[in-house]
Amino acid sequence: MRRRSVLQLLAAGATAAVLSPATSARASTANDSGRRKLRIAIVGLGGYARYATERLLAARRAELAGFVTGDAAKGRDFAGRFDRPQAPVYSYEDFDRLAADERIDAVHLCLPVGLHAEYAERALVAGKHVLCEKPLAATSAEARRVTALARERSRLLMPAYRAWYSGALQAALGRVRGGEWGRLVAIDAHKGFPMALPAGDWRFDPALAGGGALFDIGPYSVQLTRWAAGSLPARVRAIRRSDPGDPRFARVESHLAWLMEFPDGAIATGSASWRYHLQNHARFGLERAWLRLEPATPGIGERLFVGAGDPARVEELLLPIQDQLPRMYDDFAEAALTGGTPQVSAEEGIADLVVLEALARAAAEDSTVEVQGVTG
Ligand code: NDP
Repeated sequence: MRRRSVLQLLAAGATAAVLSPATSARASTANDSGRRKLRIAIVGLGGYARYATERLLAARRAELAGFVTGDAAKGRDFAGRFDRPQAPVYSYEDFDRLAADERIDAVHLCLPVGLHAEYAERALVAGKHVLCEKPLAATSAEARRVTALARERSRLLMPAYRAWYSGALQAALGRVRGGEWGRLVAIDAHKGFPMALPAGDWRFDPALAGGGALFDIGPYSVQLTRWAAGSLPARVRAIRRSDPGDPRFARVESHLAWLMEFPDGAIATGSASWRYHLQNHARFGLERAWLRLEPATPGIGERLFVGAGDPARVEELLLPIQDQLPRMYDDFAEAALTGGTPQVSAEEGIADLVVLEALARAAAEDSTVEVQGVTG
């Protein structure tokens, strides 16, 4: 049976059973003995690539096969560190030569956001499948263009939304959308940390980052909110803050807070921040219960609390700890190798950009913005 994408599930009115952790565990528990693995090159060897590469080694259906970097010495260092001394190391200038390299099936783009679309397009043209870091591109128009190209080239393009592969998050979504405790009334999702990077980092350059805290840290809470609500918001409002005394925040916001209204009446609040002390949590207010994910979207180690019935009773659901990245790589690999459908579709990446853009515009114009659909 072909797996259905997140958007398809939500459009179909996903039930607890459909969104259960067992669904997302399927790729990782597949019996892959004797089947070949998807060979992935990591592109852009920065902070996140280091973490992701290590987790790729734990995947069952995917394997580390090469590197693309502007720094050849760093490439060789990665190859040695991750026990792939023979793995090819490409430069960005050489990138298009990947087309002739049969040792590599796919790339994982860990580049600054403003480069995602360009390198996704070049990889697709080179015949490679693409796993792309969040957000999928710097604009929804770019994301739509790359999605169309992937379809045209019959290659898989998947946003690297690791949080979907969290059992705790799936358990929360299953309960929120399952109906046992009534309808969803409110969602409140916050994520942020004090920004420590120095001026000059790409995250403070709108051309390379797409936006500020909203585009960097906002996608986690935005996607979680969308998944819980089961649709795009109908309209949004937002307020942003910067710090005129800090050159890093001269062109991008350091904090943005939002209000979203969904077609079924659910209302969401939340924020993305480079200013407050570590926050990473989401609360779901249902008619007869509340759920709290805290932490909500770390790479591993989410916790789910439930309050239902007796007001004094708070239960922590003890769920098995699941490492999101190997599960994400396995789902991507299974779909790429079999021509199947991954759990997170490219349209998911467009949906988040549509919301991010609406929030950025609402903040800039100090107005209520109607949200356009994924198809634009
Ligand atoms: P870094 O700045 O640490 O790394 C980015 C890397 O991209 C650089 O090290 C460099 O690698 C390469 N690069 C190519 N061109 C440029 C350029 N013009 N300016 C700067 N770097 C360039 O960023 P992160 O690793 O933190 O983020 C990379 C991606 O991963 C982003 O899309 C981000 O949103 C995402 N991310 C995802 C997370 C998640 O949990 N899913 C967590 C953190 C980030 P080289 O020297 O090898 O060329």
